[in-house]
Amino acid sequence: MDKIKMTTPIVEMDGDEMTRILWQMIKDELLTPFLELNTEYYDLGLAHRNETNDQVTVDSANATKKYGVAVKCATITPNAARMTEYDLKEMWKSPNGTIRAMLDGTVFRAPIIVKGIEPNVKTWRKPITIARHAYGDVYKATEMKVPGPGRCELVYTGEDGTEVRELIHEFAGPGVVQGQHNLCGSIESFARSCFHYALDTKQDLWFATKDTISKKYDHTFKDIFQEIFDMEFKDKFEAAGITYFYTLIDDAVARVMKSEGGYIWACKNYDGDVMSDMVSSAFGSLAMMTSVLVSPDGHYEYEAAHGTVQRHYYKHLKGEETSTNSVATIFAWSGALRKRGELDENEALKTFADLLEQACIKTIEEGQMTKDLALMTTIQNPVVLSSEGFIRAIRANLEELLGS
Ligand code: NAP
Ligand code: MG
Repeated sequence: MDKIKMTTPIVEMDGDEMTRILWQMIKDELLTPFLELNTEYYDLGLAHRNETNDQVTVDSANATKKYGVAVKCATITPNAARMTEYDLKEMWKSPNGTIRAMLDGTVFRAPIIVKGIEPNVKTWRKPITIARHAYGDVYKATEMKVPGPGRCELVYTGEDGTEVRELIHEFAGPGVVQGQHNLCGSIESFARSCFHYALDTKQDLWFATKDTISKKYDHTFKDIFQEIFDMEFKDKFEAAGITYFYTLIDDAVARVMKSEGGYIWACKNYDGDVMSDMVSSAFGSLAMMTSVLVSPDGHYEYEAAHGTVQRHYYKHLKGEETSTNSVATIFAWSGALRKRGELDENEALKTFADLLEQACIKTIEEGQMTKDLALMTTIQNPVVLSSEGFIRAIRANLEELLGS
């Protein structure tokens, strides 16, 4: 069989620890035997970020703006322990944070559904994709402890010196106070990323806030979404046969629990933080969760939702066998390859991406899986494979599906 050709490169962002080991195995076993893999490679491993003073992260984000599609391996976000472990010059920022800020993007997280790994909510049959707004609100709030009786106000001072004041509370005793903000530009980018991604994946989009109580703050979110939808996306949604649906956050939560899934749920920053943990644990496992960063002008960066699986890496370094689940990382590759195929009108590449995903699902549904899945599957007597063994089992199914 001739290898599938790629006309435009994908931006490849290599990473750290166990996921870096899986990364190479995936390329060797599942990609390069079948594809003329065309990537522009950036090593975001912590050692190389340190050598380049983190310039490599910035370069990889700029390359994503140039080519439109990236695939990223999990990376270490340095903390005090990592400063010593890697002898770092500085406590470099989270690469995901840097890339997200440069692309002004929104992260969409969705579970990978297979028979035998059943969600805890019985009615959920299709994935629920959570989109979390990544700027402001309580995460950029200013807080104060109020020591005793006194007046608290919000004060805005315009550039010309004019002041607007709102009373927060006339305190009769001690208490607490918090000032939150958001930016219309950031909300607009969030809205556009959500509408683009809904069109892209042909799924309905839900959005919810507490606008009945928060008549200016949350209502602004609601209004911005509605304006952008009406002006830029209404016709496209109609043509695609999908809907945009706004409701109150309490109503959304109730509906989600009774739904069968199959939609995107856009959340404000705090709601997204909390609800994504609820949805991902109810669907089973972080190792079966994909994640894609979508910029408002339609650039895509695919990755796994989990981290570098440090504990498994130390076992691997000691020469012990590991059983690390590579599915989310493989789906990051298939997501990026499919998007590249769509943009380049490369049918062979799109088909390959579909078959690669089918091969993963088939392998698990046949009862061959890594330890994390074996612990929670409803399949009787699953075969527990090593990290490598699992990838080889997927390769066997992929070869069969490709008919080679
Ligand atoms: P983690 O790498 O997600 O792993 C936490 C635990 O979850 C693992 O020890 C393992 O449990 C289980 N697990 C996660 N992924 C798995 C997989 N693919 N297969 C099997 N089990 C899996 O989180 P962490 O240990 O908190 O973080 C490690 C490093 O990752 C940190 O340096 C952090 O900065 C980084 N991180 C990066 C990203 C990113 O780049 N997107 C995201 C999160 C964290 P058992 O040990 O019980 O088997
Ligand atoms: Mg959280």
